[in-house]
Amino acid sequence: MDYIKENLDCIKQKISNAAKKSGRTYEDILLVGVTKTIGEDRIDKLIELGVNDLGENRVQELIKKYETVHGNPNWHLIGHLQTNKVKYVLGKTVLIHSVDSLKLMEEISKRAMNAVDVLIEINIAGENTKHGLRPDELEPFLCESSKYNNICIKGLMTVAPYTPNPENNRVFFRNMRKLLIDIQKKNIDNVNMQKLSMGMTNDYEVAIEEGANIVRIGTGIFGERL
Ligand SMILES: *Cc1c(COP(=O)(O)O)cnc(C)c1O
Repeated sequence: MDYIKENLDCIKQKISNAAKKSGRTYEDILLVGVTKTIGEDRIDKLIELGVNDLGENRVQELIKKYETVHGNPNWHLIGHLQTNKVKYVLGKTVLIHSVDSLKLMEEISKRAMNAVDVLIEINIAGENTKHGLRPDELEPFLCESSKYNNICIKGLMTVAPYTPNPENNRVFFRNMRKLLIDIQKKNIDNVNMQKLSMGMTNDYEVAIEEGANIVRIGTGIFGERL
């Protein structure tokens, strides 16, 4: 499993370089290792190498690995969350990246025993196949959401289009950052948005250059998923 360390070292270097280009350092960027479909032995190895934030996109897989993986990693839910699954993940995640409806906000609020940190997912490129709010839906969404005072909205997340050339996504990352800054200025109750979760194996360097402070990387660490 030496390749995991080699891949990770290479990614850390690239994160560091991209952070510098945007006036920041490696420490300003949170690397979430995406472990979907990856077995526990390789996940344990990643944790051993110091990556303590892990992302899963399916609830079932997250709760299974929550029990079986060694160490005590911070779990991030990065995939679509159905309201009927909320009860299974609460208390197990440090951050839910994929909130995209008021129905989901209501269910989280109703079920939560403690404060829950979430990001709002934005469909920044307007793709039919993607989840997330349209950018113009964000402000009314946040105004409605401020009544759920046990949910802390920490920022925004997006999954950019798949493209062989990451430069094609630069405009979308830039628009995400603009959206975050514009909404911060509005001082909406209960909204303190600093986090910007964007960038995957294919495009994380461009995402960081444009302001991402959380990147979600799977393939770059573990290789192609089977
Ligand atoms: C799978 C996944 C990732 C990681 O994708 P890679 O290309 O393997 O780095 C990031 N975010 C989400 C939401 C995912 O589902």
